[in-house]
Amino acid sequence: MTVIRCGEDSIVADMGIRLDRVLIHEDTDISKLSHEELAQRGIIPALNGDYGKVRAIVLTHGHLDHIGAVPLLAGKFPEAPIIGTPYTIELVRRELRGRAQNPLYVLEAGEVLQLMPDLSIEFVRITHSIPDTVFLVVHTREGSVAYLNDFKLDDNPVIGTKPDYRRIRELGKEGLKALIIETTRVSNDGRTPSEQVARTLLEDTLLKSSGEKGLIVTTFSSHIARLKSVVDIATKLDREPVLLGRSMEKYVGIAERKGIVDLPENTHIYGSKNAIKKVLRRVAKEKHRYLLIVTGHQGEPDALLTRIANQKMEYRIEEGDEVLFSADIIPNPINVAQRYAVETKLKLQGARLFKGLHVSGHASKEDHYDLLKMLQPEKVIPTHGSLEMQASYAELAESLGYSINREVFLLRNGQRVSV
Ligand SMILES: [Zn+2]
Repeated sequence: MTVIRCGEDSIVADMGIRLDRVLIHEDTDISKLSHEELAQRGIIPALNGDYGKVRAIVLTHGHLDHIGAVPLLAGKFPEAPIIGTPYTIELVRRELRGRAQNPLYVLEAGEVLQLMPDLSIEFVRITHSIPDTVFLVVHTREGSVAYLNDFKLDDNPVIGTKPDYRRIRELGKEGLKALIIETTRVSNDGRTPSEQVARTLLEDTLLKSSGEKGLIVTTFSSHIARLKSVVDIATKLDREPVLLGRSMEKYVGIAERKGIVDLPENTHIYGSKNAIKKVLRRVAKEKHRYLLIVTGHQGEPDALLTRIANQKMEYRIEEGDEVLFSADIIPNPINVAQRYAVETKLKLQGARLFKGLHVSGHASKEDHYDLLKMLQPEKVIPTHGSLEMQASYAELAESLGYSINREVFLLRNGQRVSV
């Protein structure tokens, strides 16, 4: 969570939970832990600063590390509207279940909302790994601040349109007081490949699969573009796509209702335990007719792929069944160990594993270089990464003429900088 303040007025940008601080995954309900427990463990922001008058809570996309704390914290600023793009607001509405009474407000990419006579916010279209991602520009009487958490520069995103480069360049020309920017993959050389590349990787692998055996793909349930690719390939293979898991039902269901994706009629989506049991019993009898798309790419204990690997489900892995991982391991020791366990169990049961069928949703070093050149902010605040990642960004900025502590600021949680 970031606060951008001008005089007495402030804007809250994103309100997330920290996923690596808790054994959590897309199927976990964090509402079962108390607010104090969560803040104490550093899972949600501890609100202990003077934020002035919060005029809006602005959400840039629907990932849990950006919206997950809204049900717990939005109520602390009861008059502030929660503002996001249509997909993000639908996800928030579902998370809230009436727990905070803040008004919800939909703002589309490309739109500007005047909040006060000299305070407005603007959404600019950008690409990431969940639909309807934007970046935020706060226009104040002291100048404008851009907030880019998270993004990649994808000119072929499979779903949606490429970034609004015209507006990005324009913002650079108008002059930006400051840029607040993510740093997740700034240490990776080159550019992040387009989502189209992941689609091709999946297609190459899946189209070579055996016509007889079981086929299972696991990927992020919020990655609608990726899921769309897998469903399209299933159709080419003459298999019916079956999406399983509570989070699959949530993210895909909302995407369909919002008109973001249109999946073929023979696509099955099941979230409840009983429905999943029933359909797996059917699929297991005729594996060649279906392509399963399931949760569990990190080896999360309750996720479906893990339960299949543990032989707890109606579907048993047999010699030659193929399991595709369309996700990298999010590198923390728990994930690494859990994923290792799942992979080993699957292999022992005879599965053929295909890994790395994935591209990242985050910008690499040269994407950051291009963006910084286009936006030309006066000051830069690298965020959303370890100190190491933020420092990598600072080095990149140095190469473009910025100086640390003069124009680039490395901040820790709870710290602020005045520009
Ligand atoms: Zn994200």
